Amino acid sequence: MALVTTKEMFGKAYEGGYAVGAFNVNNMEIVQGITEAARELRSPVILQVSAGARKYANHAYLVKLVEAALELNDIPIALHLDHGADFDICKSCIDGGFTSVMIDGSHHSFQDNIELTRRVVEYAHSKGVAVEGELGQLAGIEDDVNVSAENASYTHPDEVEEFVSKTGVDSLAIAIGTSHGAFKFKPGQKPQLRFDILDEVSKRLPNFPIVLHGASSVSQEYVKIIQENGGQLADAIGIPEDMLRQAARSAVCKINIDSDLRLAMTAGVREVLYNNPAAFDPREYLKAGRANVKALVEHKIKNVLGSENKA
Ligand SMILES: [Zn+2]
Repeated sequence: MALVTTKEMFGKAYEGGYAVGAFNVNNMEIVQGITEAARELRSPVILQVSAGARKYANHAYLVKLVEAALELNDIPIALHLDHGADFDICKSCIDGGFTSVMIDGSHHSFQDNIELTRRVVEYAHSKGVAVEGELGQLAGIEDDVNVSAENASYTHPDEVEEFVSKTGVDSLAIAIGTSHGAFKFKPGQKPQLRFDILDEVSKRLPNFPIVLHGASSVSQEYVKIIQENGGQLADAIGIPEDMLRQAARSAVCKINIDSDLRLAMTAGVREVLYNNPAAFDPREYLKAGRANVKALVEHKIKNVLGSENKA
C-alpha cells in the first residue's frame, strides 16, 4: 500500500465520528510501536515528523522507516510534517515524499498567516499533498515551538471562514485550551477545553476537518513509573481523555499525541535500567520502550480516537 493523504482519511473520519491519531516519530522503535498497534486494531494512522525530528534522525532515515512500516503493515498511513515554520521546510518535505504538511503561521499577523499558508497550499496541491493551517496559539513547548501562557490565544471563530477560503487549506488546527508538553496545567488548575469555540468553528466550516494539537493526557500511570524509578515529573497534568473522546466525535478529525509517547517510551527504558543497572544491551531497554509505545497507542485508538476497525 502507498502512503495516503490526510485528505482521504479525514473525509472518512468526519463521516464516521472518529479522529485519526497523529503520532510523532523520531526513531525506529517509535515507528514500530505505533504501526504495530494500528495494524492489530485495524486503524488508520498519521506518522508525523517535526523539524526537531528531522534534525535528530535525518529526513532520509525517517522516510525510509515509514516506508518500511508501510511495507509490513497493511493499513492506511499518512506521513505529515508537524509545525512547518516556513515555505522552505514545507517544500522540502513535499518534494521528499510526505503526503501532508502543516504550515504554522499562527504567530504571524492574520494577513501574513494567510499569505504564507496560501503559498504553501499552492505548491502542495500542485503535487497532490494536503495542508494543515493554524489559527490561534497554544501555550507550551514542543521542540522549536515555544509559547508562554500570556502569549497563548484561543482561535477566533469569526476568522476561520476567511482564512480557509483565502488559503485553500485542507484542515485547520485550532486553539481551544490544549497545550504542548507534559506540563499543561498548574497543580490545582482544572483542565478545560472550550467546546463552545469548537462548536462555533464547526458551524462556520461545515464538513471541514479540525485538528487538535497538544492533546496528550500525561497518564498518571507513566508519571508514577517515572517517579518510582527516580525521575521527576511530579506536577504533570494533561487533557482528560473523556474530553478528547468528545472532541473526536465532533469535527475534530486529527488528534496530535507526542508527550504521551515520550513518557511511555522513557518509562519503559527507565524501568529496565532501574531494575537492572548492569543492563548494557540497547535492545533490552529499547524493546521495553517500544512495548510501552505500542500499549499507549492501543489505548488511544480504543479510548480516545475511536478509530479501531476503520482501516
Ligand atoms: Zn503542535
